[in-house]
Amino acid sequence: MEYENTKSHSSERPVIYDNHGRPITYLRLAVTDRCNLRCFYCMPEEGVKYLAKSKVLSYEEMLRIVRVLSELGIRKVRITGGEPFVRNNIIHLMKEITELEGIEELNITTNGILTGKYIREMKEMGVKSINLSLDTLDKQRFFEITRRDEFDIVYKTLFQLIEAGFSVKVNAVVMDGKNTDDLIPLTELARHHPVSIRFIEEMPFNGEGSHYPTLHWNAKRIVETLRHQYPDLYKLEDEKNSTSYNYHIPGFKGNVGVIAAFTRSFCGTCNRIRMTAQGELKTCLYDDGVLSIRDLLRAGISDEELKTTFLNIFQKRAKDGFEAEARRSSSVTESMTTIGG
Ligand code: SAM
Ligand code: SF4
Repeated sequence: MEYENTKSHSSERPVIYDNHGRPITYLRLAVTDRCNLRCFYCMPEEGVKYLAKSKVLSYEEMLRIVRVLSELGIRKVRITGGEPFVRNNIIHLMKEITELEGIEELNITTNGILTGKYIREMKEMGVKSINLSLDTLDKQRFFEITRRDEFDIVYKTLFQLIEAGFSVKVNAVVMDGKNTDDLIPLTELARHHPVSIRFIEEMPFNGEGSHYPTLHWNAKRIVETLRHQYPDLYKLEDEKNSTSYNYHIPGFKGNVGVIAAFTRSFCGTCNRIRMTAQGELKTCLYDDGVLSIRDLLRAGISDEELKTTFLNIFQKRAKDGFEAEARRSSSVTESMTTIGG
């Protein structure tokens, strides 16, 4: 069956387009809201109030959602959280997702603490790209940022992932007064290793609302700092739907990039939707959830009805993160650990 707003090309799979003509092909699936770190830009020190187990989507529910979305044209899934590996047997769900017809790519974003022991299984199931969050190369600073003394294991995991042949992206949130001295040491990782270092503008998703009136370290300032150190730095052509602006430094094995998550300059090509651990659908990082898919599943919705529901919602997508934020019923107060990044 062909739905409105989808186009299929003979044997090719359908593509869903939103009301702004953007194809929707990418799902970010938060599999838990729990985490073994307490990064201060993401969570308060005491943690966030975790969801009761019954409120979190089961693996069966997640798999059904991904299957239905894959039939509508979602091709790429990124597993995120909270920390994905703190949820029992997540590797099994990942394998099942890779076996769904239509899913061409499964990736994961992780903090690297429990990741090492799943390297072989992830290779075997065909995971290609791993985003590892690492904001500093200084052990003490790592402790101050994450409130946990786990630097050594994360650093070791970084090299294990590179050695195993994954395409590794290091995500580093740039925090005024905290880790701006790390911009150059982190970039230096890309001199000898084929990694992509991505500096992310800090967003107001720390579970407590924004803690700064303006962002002092925006993408522009980050790039200027890099250019000052590496005058030969040059911009690479943006990959389609990329949220990062990527640069290369001659002689380096890897690349460096910035993600303007706060200034939101990538919305025009946004191809992604998000599912929170409790089954809330977000069609923009900055919206406060547009529908509880969990409630629909638990009320007995059929696959066909679910498809129609998704398609209707994709026709009401905010044009950009500013419009999505303006439509919210509350100001931004949630933690990234529930959204998934
Ligand atoms: N726990 C995993 C991790 O840290 O990689 C996956 C979930 S985490 C919420 C996903 C990404 O969101 C991480 O790269 C993290 O650095 C980023 N993030 C969390 N809070 C953020 C904030 N306030 N501003 C910008 N990025 C943030
Ligand atoms: Fe945990 Fe990731 Fe949030 Fe850090 S950024 S507290 S590792 S969910």
